[in-house]
Amino acid sequence: MKRSTNSVEVKRQNRNRVFRYVNGHAETSMPEISAALDISGPTVLTIVNELKEEGVLKEAGELKSTGGRKAKAIAAVKDIKYAVGIDLTANHIGITYTDLSEKALKHVRIRKSFEYTNEYLDELAAFTRRFIEENAIPEDKILGIGISMPCIIDKKEQLITYSNALDIYNVSCSEWTEHFKYPAVILNDANCAAIAESAEHVNCGNMVYLMLSNTVGGAVMYENSNVIMTAGNELEAVNMYRGDNWRSAEFGHMVIHPGGRTCYCGKKGCLDAYCSALRLADLTEGKLEIFFEKLEEGNAEYEKIWDEYLDNLAIAVDNLRMCFDCEVVLGGYVGNLIRPYVPRLRQMVAEKNLFGHDGNYVRACDYKAEASALGAAIKLIENYIETI
Ligand SMILES: [Zn+2]
Repeated sequence: MKRSTNSVEVKRQNRNRVFRYVNGHAETSMPEISAALDISGPTVLTIVNELKEEGVLKEAGELKSTGGRKAKAIAAVKDIKYAVGIDLTANHIGITYTDLSEKALKHVRIRKSFEYTNEYLDELAAFTRRFIEENAIPEDKILGIGISMPCIIDKKEQLITYSNALDIYNVSCSEWTEHFKYPAVILNDANCAAIAESAEHVNCGNMVYLMLSNTVGGAVMYENSNVIMTAGNELEAVNMYRGDNWRSAEFGHMVIHPGGRTCYCGKKGCLDAYCSALRLADLTEGKLEIFFEKLEEGNAEYEKIWDEYLDNLAIAVDNLRMCFDCEVVLGGYVGNLIRPYVPRLRQMVAEKNLFGHDGNYVRACDYKAEASALGAAIKLIENYIETI
């Protein structure tokens, strides 16, 4: 009995690995799949035929010959499903959609102040409907809507337990999701941004995402790879460390200066009190870009503040490296603009690094404004891919 269960599971895993491999390449061939995944040729043939019959793979002509017989090109049917992603913040709504390519096919961001009212939620649903219509996304192919918010979610109770940024506490997720025509799910913004970043860097292995927005948060991704599968049947397609209560990676509340500045959480010396984007944006009426423009122009006051910001950020980044021993990606509002200063930060963290004086493990995020909305959509796509 046990043996048959195992062989069913192995077969399921192989199917999924084959699909993910094909989906991760513009096109490939059966010999390539067989070699890359170490699955026998006949098994690959059986799986590819099954997946073609199910409509998720297709033949795509012939691969360019490298000598010898030309192999048939195999490709994934990217547009078999779509997902919509929304990013809610205190002052903006971002929306995007994607298919199995996991790229943002369109992204729109509008200024709209958050208020916790039925009118706001109805407007949000109408905005989403219009977006779907305008982009002619086939309704029957929409898996659902992922909604990213700066909040902590109790997944078991389906409760938004806490959002300092939106000022809401202990709100049932269904109060939100029932406004939408499609299945909707609420997700943490930093987790979503990390999902988008790791989808872009498949096979990057482990990654810590440090989100430097108006609050500081993060996510820990592990064994990110399109060929390593999570075990068991649980539909948890994204390898993210959650902790016991789904509250892991609240990096903003790591104390970096005991007895230091008071954080909004009440503690003293939290990273958030030093490295929130508001530390910088508050100097330029909320416009972070202006802060960086003035910094570039050589404004002495801003340079001093930026030096202090980087000093504190370097402490946090080094702590994360010591904890997790992996790449650290800087995201959020500051992460979107920090790229020119990454070489300097690398130098700063290299000096702190016990192991090899190397700072190249820290980098700026690739996905910027659309990161959280895209990650929310990708989460639904990943859940779908996990069922293939
Ligand atoms: Zn705090």
